[in-house]
Amino acid sequence: MISANNPKLKSWVEVPAGSDFPIQNLPFGIFKTKYLSPVAGVAIGNHVLDLVYLHEHGFLDGLGLPPGVFNQTYLNSFLALGRKKTSEVRNRISELLRHDNDELKADVAAREIALVPMSEVQMLMPVRIGNYTDFYSSEEHATNVGSMFRDPKNALLPNWKHLPVAYHGRASSIVVSGTPLHRPQGQLKLPDAETPIVAPTRKLDFELEMAFITCKETKLGKPISTEEADDAIFGMVLFNDWSARDIQQWEYVPLGPFLSKNFGSTISPWIVTLDALEPFRVAGPEQKPEVLPYLKASGMKNFDISLEVNLKSHQGEASTICRSNTKYLYWNINQQLAHHTVNGCNIQVGDVYASGTISGPSPDSYGSLLELTWNGSKPLQLPDGSLRTFIEDGDTVVLRGYAGRDGVRIGFGECKGTILPAL
Ligand code: MN
Repeated sequence: MISANNPKLKSWVEVPAGSDFPIQNLPFGIFKTKYLSPVAGVAIGNHVLDLVYLHEHGFLDGLGLPPGVFNQTYLNSFLALGRKKTSEVRNRISELLRHDNDELKADVAAREIALVPMSEVQMLMPVRIGNYTDFYSSEEHATNVGSMFRDPKNALLPNWKHLPVAYHGRASSIVVSGTPLHRPQGQLKLPDAETPIVAPTRKLDFELEMAFITCKETKLGKPISTEEADDAIFGMVLFNDWSARDIQQWEYVPLGPFLSKNFGSTISPWIVTLDALEPFRVAGPEQKPEVLPYLKASGMKNFDISLEVNLKSHQGEASTICRSNTKYLYWNINQQLAHHTVNGCNIQVGDVYASGTISGPSPDSYGSLLELTWNGSKPLQLPDGSLRTFIEDGDTVVLRGYAGRDGVRIGFGECKGTILPAL
């Protein structure tokens, strides 16, 4: 067991009950304050631990870290140190925060500076994203969409169970939680019309997804096996792949989504490490037909992470409209990365790979409004009495996720975005 994951550990930093960030989590992010320019930090309870301060004041001595590795606007240089080194850093931070360790605890001046209340920080994009790929790995989601847009009898296309379907997305428009987005406009064809119009989307949707972030640079031509994938993945975030369904339906044949997706995607600011998620591994769904040898992945490669979507309507009330779980994914992250690189496609540090909408088997676990309202045919009733088919201006969507066992909660914080009127 990774020492920092011990469920018995307690921190001298107060961690409120139900916090996403107990000592067993220690996710990494980039933050700034009124006085601090962007630096790397780790979340603990309601505080952020300033890694630049710890590094510069000797608390991380002996780890052989390059100078200035945390004094950066992105975590890319830190991630590039590799899984072994970043795990050592997390283990050392865990040591420093343990209730029975006095090194930082007893140094009142140091801890006053190193621990910044979350209420005083602004979280920023954790990585500089070079490349973004969006998979389509939930069988339930692919079946629902195939049923609605094509044919319920042949909802899954013949390739779906043989390879993790994906498309290359847009990295430049990925934003951090809390960033508002304008309703996109684009070409859409109304059901009775013969020709398209350009207009603000009438079917703006969210997609409940998770994404993994890579920490390796590979050479062009060199595939990553399912075995090697763990070593290339630093951790995971929540991911909202906002989608304009009317634009999508008109544009997506034959090359897949384009402007219906690339106007914005939102990620949560804290990268939860694969290390912290280790105790929450589960087996995935049985894969039939048998996959090709390069996609075989032994051991438990899925994660038991409870997910929910909260909609705060512009009328004012918030409600949970979906509960799902990462464990439902048919294709796991090792298979996704192995497939992505089987042709020799190279990867970079800080690349983002989203799962695709994570829908579960029951209608309340569908991870998009497209599915929850069955393309607008079954409106959702919100607690304030209003109805929703798709997202309205002023609505806020918040994704949350956590893995929990033995009284430990490994949370992801919030992935939040508000929709503003079209420009
Ligand atoms: Mn998607």
